[in-house]
Amino acid sequence: MADTRAERITELIGPLRVKPGSKVDLARDFDPRYKPSQVKKADGVELLRAGIELLADYQARLAAQQTYGVLVCLQALDAAGKDGTIRHVMNGMNPQGVRVSSFKVPSAEELDHDYLWRYVRRLPARGEIGIFNRSHYEEVLVVRVHPENLDRQRLPAQARGNGVWDRRYREINDWERYLTDNGFKVVKLFLNLSEEEQRVRFLKRIDVPDKNWKFSAADIREREWWADYQKAFSAMLSATSTRWAPWYVIPADRKWFARICAAGVLAHTLIEIDPRYPTVSPQKLRGLLAAKAELEAQAPKSAAADPCR
Ligand code: AMP
Ligand code: MG
Repeated sequence: MADTRAERITELIGPLRVKPGSKVDLARDFDPRYKPSQVKKADGVELLRAGIELLADYQARLAAQQTYGVLVCLQALDAAGKDGTIRHVMNGMNPQGVRVSSFKVPSAEELDHDYLWRYVRRLPARGEIGIFNRSHYEEVLVVRVHPENLDRQRLPAQARGNGVWDRRYREINDWERYLTDNGFKVVKLFLNLSEEEQRVRFLKRIDVPDKNWKFSAADIREREWWADYQKAFSAMLSATSTRWAPWYVIPADRKWFARICAAGVLAHTLIEIDPRYPTVSPQKLRGLLAAKAELEAQAPKSAAADPCR
């Protein structure tokens, strides 16, 4: 049963994985509306529910084992559904074992440090799942599309110049490899939204009063940079999808399918880790049995010695 589930998940997410070393052209290689024909929306609710149940079970074991940690990085343009994905995928997990960190425009204190500093500070501990809502990848996305962000980082002259992006890709790959080698799996999800679907979702934020708070005029300005973002995403996916931390491009035009895929990638990672509840040593087991005998001996006359059995 568990094996067929794992197989179905592997099959679902296979086409979304960016092959390490491949040269990605986002528009050519990944369709924001992709969905295998056999997956129907009517089955979507049940699929997501099963995925979430599986995640909750594995998360409990990950937390108990306290050996591995998982870092989920979510990248996307505005209105691609990052918040909704986090809400749905985390549903059912124990909040004590999950931590969400959202990264905005860097603060003055953050700009006083190296560019990875603020992300390092939010890394998960062993047993935890850390979710980055935007991540260190902003450092090769918004910072690349709007180089004035790089000016604010006050790098020494020799650390700037044309090679800066290739160097950042290498540094990010090295950092993720270091984390992976030390028991922290890095899961990278790019929610791939089409320009037309973003237009429709922005309009919805204007038309539906309860969504007005989500709308920002700056989002419309940022849309003008669409082509530059697509180029930056393609370059990032080509350079940073690695054997130890591959990228998954999630088709984001259908929210329900995007959530299933995101849950699927995370489930795949947890199945690979296969965390186990710690087993007790023979000595500890003897202690447990002695304690049990003592508690049973204290039972009042009217009660069973051990009502749990
Ligand atoms: P939101 O996720 O809609 O709350 O917006 C956060 C904003 O912070 C986005 O416009 C990002 O582009 C911006 N942002 C995130 N990280 C960085 C960064 N390292 N440098 C500059 N801007 C950033
Ligand atoms: Mg925004």
